[in-house]
Amino acid sequence: MANWFNISCKKATFLISKKQESKLAIGESLQLFIHLLICDVCKLFKTQTNYLLHNIKIHQQTERLNEAAKEKMATVVKDEISKS
Ligand SMILES: [Zn+2]
Repeated sequence: MANWFNISCKKATFLISKKQESKLAIGESLQLFIHLLICDVCKLFKTQTNYLLHNIKIHQQTERLNEAAKEKMATVVKDEISKS
């Protein structure tokens, strides 16, 4: 039982990543919660991961090409293809 609470940093980072994509089982959430109480490195990894994902989502929502830029890009690609 003592080992059940004591997970490695490798497993903790795996659970942090898994949590971004799906819901953790109750046991996994508890293991991660306890690990994050005692491990500053994994806590930092979680903060950085959340920061990155948050900014990726914002970037995906705001950074889109307008129609003129799409047409220009298509023209450049077609020109490059026709050269080869
Ligand atoms: Zn750790």
